[in-house]
Amino acid sequence: MLEIKNLHVKLEEEDKQILKGVDLTVEAGKVHAIMGPNGSGKSTLSYVLSGRDGYEVTDGEATLEGNDLLDMEPEERAAAGLFLAFQYPVEIPGVGNMTFLRTALNAQRKARGEEELNATEFLKLIRAKAKDLKIDAEMLKRPVNVGFSGGEKKRNEILQMAMLAPKMCILDETDSGLDVDAMKLVADGVNALRDEGRGFLVITHYQRLLDHIKPDVVHIMSNGRIIKTGGPDLALEVEERGYAHLVEEVA
Ligand code: ADP
Ligand code: MG
Ligand code: MG
Repeated sequence: MLEIKNLHVKLEEEDKQILKGVDLTVEAGKVHAIMGPNGSGKSTLSYVLSGRDGYEVTDGEATLEGNDLLDMEPEERAAAGLFLAFQYPVEIPGVGNMTFLRTALNAQRKARGEEELNATEFLKLIRAKAKDLKIDAEMLKRPVNVGFSGGEKKRNEILQMAMLAPKMCILDETDSGLDVDAMKLVADGVNALRDEGRGFLVITHYQRLLDHIKPDVVHIMSNGRIIKTGGPDLALEVEERGYAHLVEEVA
């Protein structure tokens, strides 16, 4: 589904190399987790994949179902089935949450040559998905993420993901700032989307999210590279022994 080879990325503004040769393959139907200390480049990886400005790819490649992602505009990547749930969800004043989702969903359907959903179909779909995530009607009408609590923003990210039904889902620290109940809601939302045709990349600092979203593969990222890959046990090892120990061991 997602294939990353030898990816090197630097900041456009300063001469600072952040990703220093990332190799990663996420198969359809699998959940891969990336863990790692703060500042190791996890968010940068997700931003670069989604097409955010400010980064320069100096070497390597990234493909989605064999198509060159790095060559596409952000909206083309989304239409191709890539979705990123942000670590810090953006607020969009003046744009209603529901309007935003309907516009995004229909733009993607159009780009794929599919029929747009009419108002009734859309309402039915969003009401069902919002109910699962305990998002009430009032939150759907408010401007996107404006004045939402941390937990509400994260649940709203999962609502977007559920509505868009992407092929490749990247979640960047979707658990940060969530209490246990909100984390459980988010995890249930993700688990409901697990499907043999869909890949997941779950970026998290803490093992606890992976108690709820069971990964198939766990990677450790440090200083712009994946330094170790293993099964779910690797996450438990991190929890027990800390990152510093692992980083030292690999070095
Ligand atoms: P993580 O998500 O693993 O905590 P990030 O990808 O956010 O790591 O950051 C990786 C490194 O790149 C950090 O040292 C961070 O300070 C730096 N960095 C990322 N974006 C910028 C930026 N726009 N300007 C300056 N430094 C940046
Ligand atoms: Mg961080
Ligand atoms: Mg980050």
